[in-house]
Amino acid sequence: MKLKAFAKINLGLDVIGRREDGYHQVRMIMQTIRMFDQLEIEKSSTPGIRLSVNLPYVPTDSGNLVYRAASLLMEEFSIQEGVDIRLNKFIPVAAGMAGGSSDAAAALVGVNRLFDLGLSRKELMERGLRLGADVPYCVMRGTALAEGIGEKLTRLPALPSCYILIGKPGISVSTKYVYTNLKLDARTEHPDIDGIIEALENQDLGGVTGKMGNVLESVTIPRYPVIEKIKDLMKAEGALNALMSGSGPTVFGIFDDRKTAERAQQKLRDSRLARQVFLTEAFHNGGTEDDQ
Ligand code: ATP
Repeated sequence: MKLKAFAKINLGLDVIGRREDGYHQVRMIMQTIRMFDQLEIEKSSTPGIRLSVNLPYVPTDSGNLVYRAASLLMEEFSIQEGVDIRLNKFIPVAAGMAGGSSDAAAALVGVNRLFDLGLSRKELMERGLRLGADVPYCVMRGTALAEGIGEKLTRLPALPSCYILIGKPGISVSTKYVYTNLKLDARTEHPDIDGIIEALENQDLGGVTGKMGNVLESVTIPRYPVIEKIKDLMKAEGALNALMSGSGPTVFGIFDDRKTAERAQQKLRDSRLARQVFLTEAFHNGGTEDDQ
């Protein structure tokens, strides 16, 4: 069985407080994009989970969210058979694109189907939350508002058609580092999340891009100025706007014209500011088998 695990970007990311247990309360506008990892899952008569990954620095044991997702369902349903999983990663790692969370979501969907467990999407989302705050969204996919610690999801109207240029500089950013160093006070500039929602409701692309904002840039950009440079390049090359995704360091730029986006892609490659450069579009849940 083959599955696709799609990456996400945040059109808006705000942190509104901190819970007593240390988790941050967020308001995020999530958008799935057509960039994905591939999972191949097969039943095996040898009990246990065997995971292989195309990248040597990504764990293949319980340090990998795919392993933990498979293990969670296999233990709950006392599955005696085994499973072989091959993960081919294309989504940049530790990049703010929820690669690991999306892989976990795909593994939940895959194991559920492979062993006919009969869990609904909602039930998979509940289990996903035990693996990470972004996993339920990765099961849901599309355009959504995520609140709470990221698990309270409200579907939103789809992002109007556009081109999304992704640039990931050759640095890795730990999500934990960014949240730990985030200082919220009266001077914090909060993005207008409700304004983005309103623009989506009006199907106003310029309204969405005009209001895009990410409060975590205040931590990541001072530490890694290359992020600002990539944003500036994208904007100078015709992006309606550009923003850091999640806790970074990936930057995305939104374009309403393919030619302009392609030219910007080439300029970004030539600049060598980003190690990975990719031009894509939003993914909207139409839910064909192939896209699972
Ligand atoms: P988020 O946007 O949710 O913060 P991220 O893009 O910052 O995610 P990931 O690529 O999901 O980060 O993973 C970061 C770390 O998690 C990696 O350094 C890796 O060791 C570990 N990890 C666990 N499972 C996976 C996986 N399936 N793919 C990649 N990394 C994984």
